Amino acid sequence: MTSIAVPEEEVATGEWMEAPHQTACCIVGGGPGGMMLAFLLARHGIPVTVLEAHKDFDRDFRGDTLHPSILEILDQIGLSEPLHQLRHNKIYGPTLQAAGTSFSPIDFRRLKTRFPYVMLIPQTKFLEFLAAEASKYPEFRLRMAANVQELIEENGLVRGVRYQSTKGWHEVRAQLIVGADGRFSKVRSLARFEPIKTSPPMDILWFHLPHLPGDEVSDRILGGFGGGRVLAVFDRLDYWQVGYVFPKGQYQELRAAGIAALRRSIAAIEPRFANHVAALTDWQQCALLSVESSRCPIWYKPGLLLIGDAAHVMSPVGGVGINYAVQDAAVAANVLMEPLTAGHVRVQDLAEVQRQREWPTRVIQAIQAAVQKRILTNVLQARGPVTIPWTLRVFFRIPVLRDLPARLLAFGVKRVRLEKP
Ligand SMILES: Cc1cc2nc3c(=O)[nH]c(=O)nc-3n(C[C@H](O)[C@H](O)[C@H](O)COP(=O)(O)OP(=O)(O)OC[C@H]3O[C@@H](n4cnc5c(N)ncnc54)[C@H](O)[C@@H]3O)c2cc1C
Repeated sequence: MTSIAVPEEEVATGEWMEAPHQTACCIVGGGPGGMMLAFLLARHGIPVTVLEAHKDFDRDFRGDTLHPSILEILDQIGLSEPLHQLRHNKIYGPTLQAAGTSFSPIDFRRLKTRFPYVMLIPQTKFLEFLAAEASKYPEFRLRMAANVQELIEENGLVRGVRYQSTKGWHEVRAQLIVGADGRFSKVRSLARFEPIKTSPPMDILWFHLPHLPGDEVSDRILGGFGGGRVLAVFDRLDYWQVGYVFPKGQYQELRAAGIAALRRSIAAIEPRFANHVAALTDWQQCALLSVESSRCPIWYKPGLLLIGDAAHVMSPVGGVGINYAVQDAAVAANVLMEPLTAGHVRVQDLAEVQRQREWPTRVIQAIQAAVQKRILTNVLQARGPVTIPWTLRVFFRIPVLRDLPARLLAFGVKRVRLEKP
């Protein structure tokens, strides 16, 4: 698939920058939440403009998981088959090493769905795919390299945004502005929304290890626990994507111990990567993710709605951030399609989106917090090998209980469907 990113020269001509541009819905942020909502609205003939700060979708520092819930939503609108034609891997659950034994707690194959797996596909490819599909509708516009800096508020109503491109300032006016601009949301801070923050006890190093000759494609998340660390390794087919979890605030300590210590720690947790870690020679190869979790008490004000990470930053426990952003988008489309078509979005409509999405978010964040407190904190404080408690092993053998976590990860707290696919 070719990239649909607007080339730099085009940005510089300002050819498409006749301001103010008028649309029905202006979405700030071309991540999974923003692009999905834009696609769903454009598909129903609602004029929508996406403003994305980057000049392309190619950012490595992102999650690549599409859970069954997202695949079901895409299936409702005929996109699951073309998406599956793109190069991807299917993951059926984790297989983790702990104190020399292996533990496979989750098996998505037992779920009742057409898509009993997590699809692993570079987020860049997924976003390019959505943009290409949305571009088939004349109502869809995408402005890359459009960095939103200001909200236009008149008489207590948000009426538009101002963004900067390489050519200067531009204005978009719309019935509704959607802030889908992620964990550091500019729209959220411009609207003066204060998220309630919690601080999960860990940070993550995110890096690649090479595939070596003889590596077989893995349909499991690999990794494990030990020595105060958690390792998660995903097979991205061309390389291994690694998440290395360590206690919050210990990055400098980790660096001081040296990259060789990092290599030894990985090999000790998951010996099958003992040779792969030789490729890890420089801290520049690693991106540091400072983990946080937060939720805005209010997601809307007249003329403005927040969705996805802008409304609630999810802890990486369970890797559900993309799932929740896309589910927010689907619910926003369900609720707002008619008001946007009618040209009148009421505050009650925006409140309804929050009403439907807030409680699943609160529940999953509470579960993540419990896992962090009861399990992760102990694992991260352990100096030596970590054994899996027998109670946990028994839990995952009891038929009525064992699939609950898989269901929660796959669909979230509530399965979301499009009402007008
Ligand atoms: C290292 C890492 C690994 C992760 N792994 C996973 C995983 O495995 N599974 C999972 O489900 N989740 C994962 N996540 C979380 C997941 O990426 C997010 O929850 C998800 O992307 C949120 O989607 P979103 O659309 O709300 O926001 P984002 O994906 O953050 O998209 C926001 C977009 O807004 C743009 N933007 C920001 N500011 C502006 C502005 N002022 N003007 C215009 N555009 C702007 C950004 O460039 C970005 O493209 C991971 C996150 C990180 C950082």
